[in-house]
Amino acid sequence: MRAVRGMRDILPKDRGIWRVAEKAAADVARRFGYEEIVTPVIEAAELIERVGEDTDAVAKELYRFEDRGGRKLALRPEATAGVVRAYFEGHLNQLPQPARLFLIGPMFRYNRPQKGRYRQFFQLDVEAIGGESPALDAEVIEIAATWLREIGLGDLRMDLNSIGDAKCRPAYLDLLRAYYRPLKDQLHGDCQRRLESNPLLLLDCKVPQCQPFKVDAPRITDHLCEECAAAWTAVRRLLDAAGIEYRHDPYLVRGLDYYTRTVFEFYPANRDGSQDALGGGGRYDGLAEAEGWPATPGVGFASGLDRVTEMMKETGAEVIAAPLAEVLVLADAGLEVAAAEVARICRTAISVAVDYEPKSLRAKMRSANKLGSRWVVLLSASEAGRRVAQLKNMASGEQAEVAWDDLPARLA
Ligand code: AMP
Repeated sequence: MRAVRGMRDILPKDRGIWRVAEKAAADVARRFGYEEIVTPVIEAAELIERVGEDTDAVAKELYRFEDRGGRKLALRPEATAGVVRAYFEGHLNQLPQPARLFLIGPMFRYNRPQKGRYRQFFQLDVEAIGGESPALDAEVIEIAATWLREIGLGDLRMDLNSIGDAKCRPAYLDLLRAYYRPLKDQLHGDCQRRLESNPLLLLDCKVPQCQPFKVDAPRITDHLCEECAAAWTAVRRLLDAAGIEYRHDPYLVRGLDYYTRTVFEFYPANRDGSQDALGGGGRYDGLAEAEGWPATPGVGFASGLDRVTEMMKETGAEVIAAPLAEVLVLADAGLEVAAAEVARICRTAISVAVDYEPKSLRAKMRSANKLGSRWVVLLSASEAGRRVAQLKNMASGEQAEVAWDDLPARLA
C-alpha cells in the first residue's frame, strides 16, 4: 500500500523546517493581534461552490463527495470561505471589528501533482474580516512580508494591483471588451470565450499568442471610482511608510466578482513571472454576501507552506533540530523496569529514550552513535541492584559511574 497520488508524508527529518515556518507565522500573527482559528477540512459543497464556481480550484479541482447520509460535501480547496462562515456562525461579527484571524492547515485540490504542487498541501491563511480600511490591506501585506523575511525569504518580489469594485469595474470591463473585440481572432480559445463573460482574465493569460495585446489594453487603475482610487493611493502610501517594496502589475487580477480593490502576490525575486507564487491575497468585500450572509468587507492572504519550506531549504534557512532524545538508556534484556525508571529520573532534566530492542549492548551502542545522542546511560544487572549506572559522554568518550539520583544534575 502506498500514499494516495498527490498526497505525501512530511517525515521527521523535514518537520523541523516546517516547525520553524509555522512557529514564525504564529509569532508574527500574534504580534499583529491575529488570533488562531481552526475550521473543518470538510465543508458543505455548496459553500465552496458558491464562492468559487469559476476558479480552477473549485470548477475542475474540487474534491467533492457524498457522505453516508447523502450530504454533498467538499474538502476545502482554500480557507477563506470556511473562515468567513465561521466568523458569522461563531458570532465573531458581534465582537469589536475587524476580527483578526489566522489559520494553518491542509487544503485539497485535485490538480496534476508535480514539484511544489500537491493534492493535499498546507496553507498559512491570514484574514481581517469586518473592516474596510485600506490600512488593513497594508497590514495583511505587512504580516506576509514580515513572516517571509523572518523565515529567511526576504528576497521576494511583490506584485500589487487594484481591481476596483462593483461601482467602477463594470464600466472598465466594457472598455476592456471593446479593446479586445477586434483582436478576438488572434487570441487563444479560452481567451476568446472569456472575452465576453470574464474579460479580466484575459490580462492574466500566460499563453504566448495573447501576450502582445496586453500592453495597450486599458488599465483598471486608470478607471477607478473615487473611493477605489483613494484606497489604491492609501495602500501604496502605507506600504511605502512600512518600507515594503512592490511592483505595480496592471495584469494581476482575480476572476471572481466578490474580489475588490487590492490584489497582491509574492514571488521569488530572481525568477520569472511564470514561477508559481509563494503566496497572495486581496480584498473580498463581496464574499460574505455571496455566501448568503450580510455584506461584510474583508481582506486576506494565503501562502503555501509546502513551497515556502521548499524554498527555505534551498536558501539554507536555519533549522531547529528535531527533538531527538539527548540521552539514550541502554540496558541488558530483562532490565526494562530499571531502564524505564532511570529514564524517568533523567527526564526531569533532559529528553530521554530507552532502547528496548532485544540486541547486544554493543549493537545498541552502534545505534546510539547513529542517532547522535549526546549521552548514553549503560545499565547492567549488578549496577541496577546498587542503583548506579555508567554515564558516557558521546563526544568526549568519557565514562563514569553515577548514582541514578545524581543523573539529572550531571545531565542538566
Ligand atoms: P491560491 O489560493 O491559488 O492563490 O494559492 C495560494 C497559495 O497556496 C499559492 O501561492 C501557493 O503557495 C499555494 N498553493 C496553491 N495550490 C497549491 C498546490 N496544489 N500545492 C502546493 N501549494 C499550493
